[in-house]
Amino acid sequence: MKPTKTSSGATLSIDLGAIRQNYRLLRRQAGKAACAAVMKADAYGLGASHIAPILAQEGCRHFFVAHLDEGIGLRRCVPAEADIFVLHGPPPEAERDFIEHGLIPVLNSLPQVRAWRTLCQQLDRRLPAVIQVDTGMSRMGLSPDEVDILLSDANYLHCIDLRYLMSHLACAESQSHFMNEAQLRRFQVLRARFPSIPASLANSSGIFLGRPYQFDLVRPGAALYGLAPVAGEPNPMHPVVSLQGRIIQTRTIKIGDYVGYGLTYRADSARHIATVSVGYADGWMRAMSNRGIAVIGGVSVPFVGSVSMDTITLDVTAIDRTKLVPGAMVDLIGPNHPVDTVAALARTIGYEILTSLGNRFHREYVDAPCNCDDPLAGAAASSSIAGEAVAHW
Ligand SMILES: *Cc1c(COP(=O)(O)O)cnc(C)c1O
Repeated sequence: MKPTKTSSGATLSIDLGAIRQNYRLLRRQAGKAACAAVMKADAYGLGASHIAPILAQEGCRHFFVAHLDEGIGLRRCVPAEADIFVLHGPPPEAERDFIEHGLIPVLNSLPQVRAWRTLCQQLDRRLPAVIQVDTGMSRMGLSPDEVDILLSDANYLHCIDLRYLMSHLACAESQSHFMNEAQLRRFQVLRARFPSIPASLANSSGIFLGRPYQFDLVRPGAALYGLAPVAGEPNPMHPVVSLQGRIIQTRTIKIGDYVGYGLTYRADSARHIATVSVGYADGWMRAMSNRGIAVIGGVSVPFVGSVSMDTITLDVTAIDRTKLVPGAMVDLIGPNHPVDTVAALARTIGYEILTSLGNRFHREYVDAPCNCDDPLAGAAASSSIAGEAVAHW
């Protein structure tokens, strides 16, 4: 059953209008480069089938996903002329699925390049692909030596319609990190070996490293969804996500009383405690035990005790009791408590908080411009979607 506002423990609200604003801001920041949207992991957990049509309306025509399956799902949510790039490339033997579903692989290894070339020869067609080169992350992409092997036969790439040469930055959110320039230089050297092929290097943070990093196509994900692109600077992005958890019970405890599993919190005076129905099974990580913060009516209240599977416990002694009736909502992510702050308290990054958001929440999609109750229907009605928009994938 789909969680409803009253039946679920929490409401997750996703502001599609803010995503529009963020896309516009990133596109402006990217200058002459085209601005893609990275939609992997169901748009960082926020719902690709809702978000992709919105970005398509804004003019986005380049989408990135991680897996073939994600690409197949996304194909139905974006216009037919939009490019969908699959970052992990074809799994062995799955090359033909890319043709069937109109997807463009990112080729990350010599075997992937060879398999794609073989398919081009079998079909006697030049098929589009991106080649990724490794510039220092040692994660995906061809090493410089493998580029040598690839280019040792001048004709080798002729039958591939090479759309972009790409690489990925390891430390772009730290603007003064030595690795940014090192990767840029390595990328420029490799790029010179693929004359006249467009290039793509920057993720969200990379866009803010300036023009030399932007090349022909930028690939933001996190900043679209409201995360801060530059460490230590004010966040220029509009907040996209808010999460409200429900109070299910309150109690007063005496000095010396404990709270939660393992008795990790002991009251040093009488306290008022509220139990909220969100826990680590909803992605509200145990690392927030005795560290997390919630906000009630603009006032911050601390997590006390361990985070349980389905609940957290808050010290609400500072809050007026009339605001604490069962059913009252508390902000777990909100205007005064952004995702990046939640992440710091959980000793992780905003990406992990977003992609961990559970499926037990009631989800609301808000789109200020059209202000419709069913944003999916609204978006599909007012944009040129190829086929029907899918409800979920
Ligand atoms: C995830 C990813 C991106 C997007 O990164 P953000 O930091 O979320 O903007 C871009 N490129 C590649 C290769 C990725 O894996």
